[in-house]
Amino acid sequence: MYPRKFSYVAPSRVEDVLRLLKRYGDEAKLLAGGHSLLPMMKLRIVGPRVVIDLKNLRDRLAYIRDGARAVRIGALTTHAEIEFSDMLKREVPLLPEVARWVGDMQVRNMGTVGGSLAHADPAADWPVAMLALNATFTVQGARKRAVPASKFFKGPFTTALKPSELLTEITVPKPPKGHGWSWKKFERKAGDFATVNVAVIAVPDGRGQIRDVSIAVGSVNPVPYRAAGAEKMLRGKRPDAELLKAAAEAAAEPAEPTSDLRGSAEYKKWLTRVMVRRALEEALSRAGISVEVVQHA
Ligand SMILES: Cc1cc2nc3c(=O)[nH]c(=O)nc-3n(C[C@H](O)[C@H](O)[C@H](O)COP(=O)(O)OP(=O)(O)OC[C@H]3O[C@@H](n4cnc5c(N)ncnc54)[C@H](O)[C@@H]3O)c2cc1C
Repeated sequence: MYPRKFSYVAPSRVEDVLRLLKRYGDEAKLLAGGHSLLPMMKLRIVGPRVVIDLKNLRDRLAYIRDGARAVRIGALTTHAEIEFSDMLKREVPLLPEVARWVGDMQVRNMGTVGGSLAHADPAADWPVAMLALNATFTVQGARKRAVPASKFFKGPFTTALKPSELLTEITVPKPPKGHGWSWKKFERKAGDFATVNVAVIAVPDGRGQIRDVSIAVGSVNPVPYRAAGAEKMLRGKRPDAELLKAAAEAAAEPAEPTSDLRGSAEYKKWLTRVMVRRALEEALSRAGISVEVVQHA
């Protein structure tokens, strides 16, 4: 199907994008990689009057920068650029791993991290990773504001972005050296969106205990969530298999999946528990925290 008729502009300055957004409001749509917007336009789910292509802003908004305490990623950075960043592999290895699992190579070469976050598909991968990493999003409108990942996703395909705003940058605090991490994405077939996706960051205390842990779960609710109850159970503990099982159960508690082509609600809830437990095991092992085996009489 062809999209509705639209005007096309490709400004080369952020100020011009903002001026156009202010003028056209929700009649305008920003075009980044086009891998979510164009299918929606072709299916006539959206029909913007004006498409504002961001491709001429790549010089300004496609970058990965290393800082003392955080890495900064420009919104127009592609999934592939994150996948192949040696600095990220060293500093925040979760990110290149997440990128590797997004769609296929064509999608990763065109799609952008900012486009994915702004699109806020409940089954997308970046929102889950950014939530686990306590990332902050820089949003530029009439003024600049910083929105934490935990406050950005409001519902399916709905974010804290106003029609007059552009997502410009993602700031990811560097997890401490020696942290463990895990990305578990269950997909029906290679390149598919997730049935369940889970990100875990685990920080050891150097004495075999968990100093800090973050667990984010996606695809089973309208927006991804942090498994706060499970995190609390694990902090300050020397884990054993029973604790991990209980934490995985607690992490799946808030999941309210719906039955669809990817499986029944019951199956997805069960899968959430399994994926969280596996992610915890992997992250703890990478953090050098051994899981005690409990001997039953
Ligand atoms: C075959 C296929 C498989 C895929 N598989 C996966 C997958 O496994 N996992 C996954 O997470 N995703 C997957 N995707 C989605 C893909 O990651 C998209 O690239 C991504 O969702 C949107 O990024 P984009 O740069 O293409 O944005 P676009 O499609 O250009 O834009 C998406 C939306 O975000 C808005 N937008 C874009 N950039 C900005 C910005 N800087 N500020 C404000 N608003 C902005 C646009 O106006 C639009 O509403 C897949 C897509 C396809 C086609």
